[in-house]
Amino acid sequence: MNKIPFITKEKAQEIAMTYPTPFHLYDERGIRENAKAVKEAFAWNPGFKEYFAVKATPNPYLIQILREYGCGCDCSSMTELMLSKAMGIEGEDIMFSSNDTPAEEYAFAGELGAIINLDDITHIDFVEKILGKLPRTISCRYNPGGVFKMSNGIMDNPGDAKYGFTTEQMFEGYRLLKEKGVEDFGIHAFLASNTVSNEYYPVLARELFELAVRLKKETGAHIKFINLSGGIGIPYQPDQEANDIRVIGEGVRRVYEEVLVPAGMGDVAIYTEMGRFMMGPYGQLVTKAIHEKHTHKEYIGVDACAVNLMRPAMYGAYHHITVLGKEDAPCSYKYDVTGSLCENNDKFAVDRMLPAIEKGDYLVIHDTGAHGYAMGYNYNGKLKSAELLLKEDGSVQLIRRAETPKDYFATLDCLDIYDKLEL
Ligand SMILES: *Cc1c(COP(=O)(O)O)cnc(C)c1O
Repeated sequence: MNKIPFITKEKAQEIAMTYPTPFHLYDERGIRENAKAVKEAFAWNPGFKEYFAVKATPNPYLIQILREYGCGCDCSSMTELMLSKAMGIEGEDIMFSSNDTPAEEYAFAGELGAIINLDDITHIDFVEKILGKLPRTISCRYNPGGVFKMSNGIMDNPGDAKYGFTTEQMFEGYRLLKEKGVEDFGIHAFLASNTVSNEYYPVLARELFELAVRLKKETGAHIKFINLSGGIGIPYQPDQEANDIRVIGEGVRRVYEEVLVPAGMGDVAIYTEMGRFMMGPYGQLVTKAIHEKHTHKEYIGVDACAVNLMRPAMYGAYHHITVLGKEDAPCSYKYDVTGSLCENNDKFAVDRMLPAIEKGDYLVIHDTGAHGYAMGYNYNGKLKSAELLLKEDGSVQLIRRAETPKDYFATLDCLDIYDKLEL
């Protein structure tokens, strides 16, 4: 897949006059086209809903765009629930897929009427005590254990994951919930992450649909929805082929017609909780080269660091880089592209072939729209950047300001450090 920056060098210079680098830039057009494709790919299922995984990109301006395509919110914490409520998203438009959940978060989810997706069988009693009475609809997260395989090999290792109910616990849990008056049930599972394959959802769907048929038969539970959760990936590497959501939607439809419809379960709604696929390719981190260093290796130092994008430092993840104004120049120099943290893993690229970079050049780091800004932190006293929206008309809107030192010192308000600086 050809990796194209959203902006030219000239546009970057223009934006940087108002909003200094580094900043995250999101492409409204791309977000809209993709959200529309997702909606169309699952239009065959009347109850379909995508619950956007808020943790991937917790920005209300961006989530508001997804709302126009019928998306709800998948939340996993108190503040994500609060963010949804503040946007007017409540009730069954919220999926609360948490784990190791504090009591007050279940209480708030209950207050909002969110769909609660239980991570553990012991949470049945826990939630009942907190809410007084279990909600009418409830979901259980499934973890079959073992490894998750597809035709091209092992994809992930659910047996090692902390999430979900075992198969036995699903049956036991459903019986218990039914006794306690729950009427409508959901099944949820997240068994592999960042799958760049049109096969993942259909393979997962078959496993969950077959489980649903058994659960219905053996416990009499009414299965209202099956939540395929996240895990649909994006091609971070330029030579990877992107998932085709239409092919994925059709794949799920085939399995649905093969397994659920003959079992008299043709009314089951399909839900998804995609984060990365909804936003990842539609965000880019724009940063400026501020130093070049020639020692045992060639280094380019930029004004962004792992605080702005943690994935390379944390997972050794590849993020493609384009040097603006040098899109067609030969990549004949080998660089490490570094940030300024006092951590040697603060590198956006290692031994990357790029065009000759000069100080002042703008670098675009691709595919930062999900799990990018969101994973930010304040190590080394670094401040989080602004988020900007590139609108369809070409204008740029500030959708989150950059942090200031005052924000950094805010939690030390008992010491009034900021006031003592007398700036
Ligand atoms: C992280 C997460 C998602 C989103 O995952 P992506 O890989 O970004 O699609 C969805 N559901 C749950 C429960 C998650 O933890």
